Amino acid sequence: MSNIIAIVGRPNVGKSTLFNRLTESRKAIVDDLSGVTRDRHYGVGEWTDKQFTVIDTGGYVANSEDVYEAAIREQVMIAIEEASVLIFMVDVTTGITDLDDDIAQVLRKSNKPVFVTANKVDNTALHSEISTFYGFGLGEVFPLSSMTGSGTGELLDEIIKNF
Ligand code: GDP
Ligand code: MG
Repeated sequence: MSNIIAIVGRPNVGKSTLFNRLTESRKAIVDDLSGVTRDRHYGVGEWTDKQFTVIDTGGYVANSEDVYEAAIREQVMIAIEEASVLIFMVDVTTGITDLDDDIAQVLRKSNKPVFVTANKVDNTALHSEISTFYGFGLGEVFPLSSMTGSGTGELLDEIIKNF
């Protein structure tokens, strides 16, 4: 249970894009461990001298809004148990949604370090928009563009201090 980063957040914020970036050098090593891990992917990454496992959560299958939210909540709970550090990803282009608030509530109750990450900050003009996410009460908000990779280094520098 050491050096494990889980990426949580509602669908479409960019979790898998970041996962692919962080695990670029090595391909996913574990998949479909059991039924319960069906919706998660595991990969290995490294930053400076630290190696870590990354968990991408997602792939929610549900047929109603309620089931969908429950499935996401379940994934977040499992991630909290499995991970040593959590990346809570939100989307700067949409701001805070109800589902974001829901996930934040679960994360606030965890005793794990949470890194609020505002994704899709593709240019500096969007930097000022991240302040809204301080409203979660989960500490510093890291601007990121999973697409360009901008902000990844700053985020990982802070995360690996926990390893
Ligand atoms: P997930 O559902 O949270 O895993 O999100 P994905 O990684 O599948 O990304 C959802 C969509 O957002 C895709 O169309 C991505 O190309 C897009 N996306 C991801 N990261 C960024 C980013 O940094 N900037 C922009 N503009 N789009 C992004
Ligand atoms: Mg995904």
